[in-house]
Amino acid sequence: MQDIEAIRDLVQKPQTIFITTHQNPDADALGSSLGLAGYLKKKGHRVTVVTPTDYPDNLKWMSGNDEVIAFEEKSRVAVTRLIAEADVIFCLDFSALSRIRDMEPLVRQARARKVIIDHHLEPEGFADFMYWDSKAAATAELIYRLIDQLGDADLVDIPMAECLYAGIMTDTGSFRHASTTGDVHRVAAALLDTGIEVNPIHRRIYDNVSIDKLRFLGYILNEKLVVLPQYKAAYITITADELKRFRSKAGDTEGMVNYALSVEGVVMAAILIDRGDEIKMSLRSVGDFSVRELACRHFEGGGHKNASGGRTKMTLKETEAKLLEVLPLYQEQLLETV
Ligand code: 5GP
Ligand code: MN
Repeated sequence: MQDIEAIRDLVQKPQTIFITTHQNPDADALGSSLGLAGYLKKKGHRVTVVTPTDYPDNLKWMSGNDEVIAFEEKSRVAVTRLIAEADVIFCLDFSALSRIRDMEPLVRQARARKVIIDHHLEPEGFADFMYWDSKAAATAELIYRLIDQLGDADLVDIPMAECLYAGIMTDTGSFRHASTTGDVHRVAAALLDTGIEVNPIHRRIYDNVSIDKLRFLGYILNEKLVVLPQYKAAYITITADELKRFRSKAGDTEGMVNYALSVEGVVMAAILIDRGDEIKMSLRSVGDFSVRELACRHFEGGGHKNASGGRTKMTLKETEAKLLEVLPLYQEQLLETV
């Protein structure tokens, strides 16, 4: 669904614009936010980007990063004012307001017109307008398409293109997930044509790992990876104590679940992390097996068919036990998946 004309009207005259994205922003969340912010600023709008939480250091090179406000108790008053003053709120890379944590009531009650730009399934009905395509590989791809449809592709400069390219690169797993269509490559090509260099972007994102994170990964793979061949599944649990012991920072556990999925024969993988106030789960699968369905039904979550997440208010042990109870329900489907 693409309310392109409504969005065109909305940004016709200079407005005060608030851009936000989901908690624990990844490169697509932050890259699409900063790419859109760069564009809207060029069009004469007053733009602020606020993230619900902090995000990993390997994203902080993006142009506009220095002006991003990460919501915390200290910034509550300022963010509340920004939301109240906004004419338009863009919600990028999420479709359910629960994904912006403590900012949820502020955004829900805001007088501003709200626009969702996203590629997740089943958007909640909180927005006035949407630019939404669940087949898009990344929200950053949608931002480029929107700017292009507004007739402003020539305004995409190198700093904006770097942000958008980073979002597409990471959400497609470096152009290898099934979501990587010809259109994705065409958008990537248009971004390349602005003059960006892809290798430094790749290196800043991927070859920028702290030694603490690498040693933590070594420990997890050695001690905490459980493989269940009878379900073609693998999972990892991480306790709050382990996060502390390895000085784990925001984003350090990102991508770990993919190691579980890379085990030969495994078609579904999960990681269960004790975040103190809740157990956060990330789920991944291959082929037709839907971890979205599993997360929706059993773990208050959602996402995509092959990449989803969820949460529980139980202990880590109880959550692990629940996963082990749920897996037999899917055994037949899992064994059929290749
Ligand atoms: P990740 O494992 O990277 O945190 O999340 C993978 C995907 O699952 C995200 O793109 C997001 O769509 C979805 N997701 C993660 N956590 C949740 C959640 O708690 N609720 C919902 N609805 N989706 C989630
Ligand atoms: Mn995304």
